[in-house]
Amino acid sequence: MMVDAQLIPRGISDSRVLEAMRNVPRHLFVPESMKDSAYADMAMAIGENQTISQPYMVAIMTELLGLAGDEKVLEIGTGSGYQAALLAALAKEVHTIERIAALSERAADKFRELGIENISTHIGDGTLGLAEYAPFDRIIITAATPEIPAPLLGQLKDGGFIVVPVGERFSQTLIKGTKTDKMLLKEYHTACVFVPLIGEFGWKGQ
Ligand code: SAM
Repeated sequence: MMVDAQLIPRGISDSRVLEAMRNVPRHLFVPESMKDSAYADMAMAIGENQTISQPYMVAIMTELLGLAGDEKVLEIGTGSGYQAALLAALAKEVHTIERIAALSERAADKFRELGIENISTHIGDGTLGLAEYAPFDRIIITAATPEIPAPLLGQLKDGGFIVVPVGERFSQTLIKGTKTDKMLLKEYHTACVFVPLIGEFGWKGQ
């Protein structure tokens, strides 16, 4: 229903992404009280002032990553863990980092419950990346940033993609960057609104 009503009509066409979005149980990643509307066309609060993104936004970001199955992916902003669970179905190895420990721990419990074994959860400031596991084939930032954090570009493989909402505090543009010869070639996609990426190379603040 979500795939046929919200994703295909808006142009999501990668069959692996559509299949993963049919299979990953989104209702397990939203609060108990919101289960009935888990597949609705909207973002939802997940506690700690954070959100799980709208299904379409998750789908377009995932499609832009162009995953074939053998990649090592870094996600910044674990949140509910839903995006990471999708990445785990589409890539070989996923590292996901979250600054709020309670969210990270809850997501790790979900991955265990679902028997997902190719996700490593990390707690910390994702704007610094994860140097010890670099380089990454793909990087996805699921929070808004004024600019792409420099350490992450350093940890992206040549030829790799980064997908990230970049812009102002309350309005951003989804960007796909391709790293070529240490430069980043940028494509601009849809307008979006994400919660802020807070850290040394994102927004400062609590
Ligand atoms: N990908 C998530 C999902 O599937 O539910 C949605 C992520 S939510 C829109 C953004 C998340 O980024 C929040 O959980 C927030 O705490 C986290 N975040 C913000 N700044 C961060 C940082 N510097 N490092 C890691 N996570 C951060």
